[in-house]
Amino acid sequence: MSGDPENPEHPERAAVTALADDFLAGLREWLSIPSIGTDPAHHPDVARSARWLADALRRDGWSDVRVWDTGPALPAVYACRPAADPDAPVVLVYGHHDVQPVDPVEAWAHPPFEPTLVGEELFGRGASDDKGQVAMHLLGVKAHLAATGATHPAVTVKLFVEGEEESGSPHLTRLLDEHRDDLAADLVVFTDTPLYARDAPTVCTGQRGVYGAEVVFTGGASDVHSGRAGGGVPNPATAIARLVAALHDDRGRVRLRDFYTDVVEPTEAERADYAALPFDEGGWLADSGGARATAGEEGWSTLERVWVRPTAEVNGIHGGYTGPGLKTIVPASASVKLSFRLVPDQRPERVAEALREFVADHTPPGLRAEVIPCGDGAPPYAVDVAHPAVGAVRDAVETAFDRPVRFSRTGGSGPAALLHGALGVPVVYLGATLPDDRIHAPDERVVVPLLLRGAEAAAHLWRTLPERLS
Ligand SMILES: [Zn+2]
Repeated sequence: MSGDPENPEHPERAAVTALADDFLAGLREWLSIPSIGTDPAHHPDVARSARWLADALRRDGWSDVRVWDTGPALPAVYACRPAADPDAPVVLVYGHHDVQPVDPVEAWAHPPFEPTLVGEELFGRGASDDKGQVAMHLLGVKAHLAATGATHPAVTVKLFVEGEEESGSPHLTRLLDEHRDDLAADLVVFTDTPLYARDAPTVCTGQRGVYGAEVVFTGGASDVHSGRAGGGVPNPATAIARLVAALHDDRGRVRLRDFYTDVVEPTEAERADYAALPFDEGGWLADSGGARATAGEEGWSTLERVWVRPTAEVNGIHGGYTGPGLKTIVPASASVKLSFRLVPDQRPERVAEALREFVADHTPPGLRAEVIPCGDGAPPYAVDVAHPAVGAVRDAVETAFDRPVRFSRTGGSGPAALLHGALGVPVVYLGATLPDDRIHAPDERVVVPLLLRGAEAAAHLWRTLPERLS
C-alpha cells in the first residue's frame, strides 16, 4: 500500500497517473476563462466558463448535461452520471466556477488568466478556488471508471456547479428549489474546502456561519462645539465605545443574551483530533496578518477558537472627526460594523434578535439607535462525524494520501447549510487544496500532486460508498 503506481491494490492511483496530463491541459483551458462573477463586465465569461464545463462533461460521457442560464442566477452547470444499479446511492457534488476579482493585478507574478505551471504549482485565478477542485472531481469519476473497468460508476454521481458563490450565492436557494428533483440525492459532497496542511491532510467536517450588522448611534442633528455643549449632551462615539467594550466578558465570551444556548460543542474525539494536528503558533500568527499573540475565548485552543467557537468581531468603528489636528466637537453620530461567526446550531436570525436587544440595553438616554443588518447572514453547518459517509471519506483520503487523516473544520462560511437545508441530506467535504493557496489574493495557486491525490480519494470513495451506506 505505498506510492507505487503499478501496485494492483491501487488501480485508482494508476488511473489518475495515466489521466494526469489530460487533466492538467483541460484545467488550464478552463482557468484561462476570466469568470469573475462579481463584475458584470465579466458575466459573458461566466457564461463561457459554464459552457466550457458542460462541453467537458459531455466529452467525458456524462449524460443529462445542462447549463441553467435562464436567470436571475449566473449560469450554473448540472450533470448526471447514473450508476448501473438504480438502487445505488445518489451523490451530489457541489462546487462553483465563478472566481474572485484579480485586483491588484500588478501584484501577480503570473498573469491571473494565463495559467502557469511552475514545478508542482499551477498558478491562476480559480486554480484552487474552486475550478481546480471541481476538475479534480471530474478526474475522480474518470479514474473510478478506468480503475474498475466499469461503464457506470458504483454510485449515481450528480454534479452541481454554481456561478455565484463568490457573490454570496444569492440565488442558490431559488436554484435548489427550482431544480429540486434533478438535485435530489442521498449525500452532498462539498468541494470548496482545503486540507489542514500538506503534511497533515484532513477531512473537513464543518464551516462556521456568519451574521453581520452596523450599529449607528445618533444624538443631535449636527456636530456641536465641545466647549458649548460638551459635558451636557450624550456623546455617540463614547456610547459606541461602551457598547463595543461590553460585547465580551473578561473570559472572552460574547455577552449577547443566550448566545451560547444553541452551541453544540465538538465531540471529545474531534477535540483530540484538533489537538493532534501540528500547530506552529509563530507560523499561524505570521499567516494571520502578522499578529503578535493569540487571543480569544478562555478554555479553547487557537484551532478550536477559529473552528468550533462562535465570535463577535468589530470590523470597523466610525465617529466624529479623524482628520489632522484637533476639532473640538461632540459628534452627531457614531457607528460600528460588527460580524459574528456562528457555529452549529446557532441561527443568524436569533443572533440578529439578541443583537437588537443588546443595542437597546446599551443605548444611553438621548441617543437614537439603529441596527442595519448586512443581509440575512449564513447559517453554520457541521456533519455528524459518526455518519458512515464521513468514515468513508476519511478512509478514502487516508488511502489516497498514504497516511492517517484527522478531522478539521474551517472558520469561514459557505453554502453547505443551505444545501443541507434544501436537500435534507448530510453534507461531507472532500477537497485537496491548501490554506496557503492565496485564494482571493494575487498569485492564487494549486499544488497539482495534491489535486491528483484528491481525485484518487474521490475514486476510492465512489467505489466504497455503496457498501458503507448499505
Ligand atoms: Zn470557493
